[in-house]
Amino acid sequence: MKRIALLGASGSIGTQTIDVILQHPDLFDLVSFGVGTRAETARNLLKQFPDVSLCAVKNETDALSLMKEFPDKTILYGEAGLKTIAESDYDVLVNALVGFAGFAPTLAAIESDHDVALANKESLVCGGELITRALALHGRTLIPIDSEHSAIFQCLQGNRMRQVKRLIITASGGSFRNRTREELDSVTVEEALAHPNWSMGAKITIDSATMMNKGFEVTEAHWLFGVPYEQIDVLMHPESIVHSMVEYVDKSVMAQMGSPDMRLPIQYALSWPDRLPLDEPPLDLAKAGTLHFSAPDTERFPLLALAYEAGMKGGNLSAVMNAANETANAAFRNHEIPFTMIEDIVIGAVHDAPYGPLKTPGDLYAADEWGGEYAAAKIRKLN
Ligand code: NAD
Ligand code: MG
Repeated sequence: MKRIALLGASGSIGTQTIDVILQHPDLFDLVSFGVGTRAETARNLLKQFPDVSLCAVKNETDALSLMKEFPDKTILYGEAGLKTIAESDYDVLVNALVGFAGFAPTLAAIESDHDVALANKESLVCGGELITRALALHGRTLIPIDSEHSAIFQCLQGNRMRQVKRLIITASGGSFRNRTREELDSVTVEEALAHPNWSMGAKITIDSATMMNKGFEVTEAHWLFGVPYEQIDVLMHPESIVHSMVEYVDKSVMAQMGSPDMRLPIQYALSWPDRLPLDEPPLDLAKAGTLHFSAPDTERFPLLALAYEAGMKGGNLSAVMNAANETANAAFRNHEIPFTMIEDIVIGAVHDAPYGPLKTPGDLYAADEWGGEYAAAKIRKLN
């Protein structure tokens, strides 16, 4: 029985993780979880999973009412609550938080000798250097949940890392893949939130439309697999059936395919190295008929190129990029800025940032604050 701690239990990845746990009650058990402001989800999960002993919510008020209702459970709140769960007793942490808030629990879990199944890519985008160091020090494993990284992880099984020539990350292109740059000036939040292939949380859906998400995935792959940026390519693939590929020195290319359903990479992260049945119709390639591939247009999607630039320059720049994006992405969703302004802000932040090393969590928090403040100042000027 694998005892699972789940942060971000009320989100898109979180609820699908619950689905996977419920499908295999003999193998997986939920022992602790965190949600944001959805106290109702916390209430339901506390009733549904008798082995849960720890629960964290974002606000103190929600925590106080849950304490009254569930006097035999430990109810926590705020950032400290997430950290307490990350450091508690369990077998694997599923980090399904969104944004930089996910970094501290990822690091705390590793430093308290736990393996992490990671959906929260921002952890690695910002703090990849710190996390890889902690993983090596504590002999722990980070198992990817992001579908592209799960695909690469699956293509690497039984092969040798030193014989990898190239990682090829596929990209659907997001909600605006068929629009020109000029057409982007007037797009709405609702249009941006309608992803053609995947149903995901709001932030990542916007990140997919700007392709910041694909840039993040390049950085994520760099840290997860220890492959230089020069050997990571992005390939447009609108059908989202080939989830990513690995090319080896003999030019053999391994690909992992499947329907766009996040439950597969979530389940694999929990069952690895085993595979378990999944109640999903089999992939019907005859029905799909044709799969398309093309090179990405980095002029059309400048944030993809920016992620490479920030990653290759290193230091604090990817953390600055993430922070500026987090603020700009939220401002767009709040109707405070137009869509293309997200790009202007994030590019400006990376180019104007005082470059520095990222050796300590203090360096990281400073970079995050700088990037967030930079973006907030640009947004204030507009409003
Ligand atoms: P989501 O917005 O649906 O869910 C986020 C969860 O985090 C919610 O439970 C929310 O309550 C919680 N949360 C956010 N901030 C919090 C805070 N400060 N304190 C406590 N809880 C907080 O997001 P999602 O789409 O599930 O994405 C989660 C992560 O997984 C992101 O990093 C995303 O990039 C990554 N990811 C998601 C998908 C997908 O299909 N949704 C695919 C690949 C990767
Ligand atoms: Mg992905």
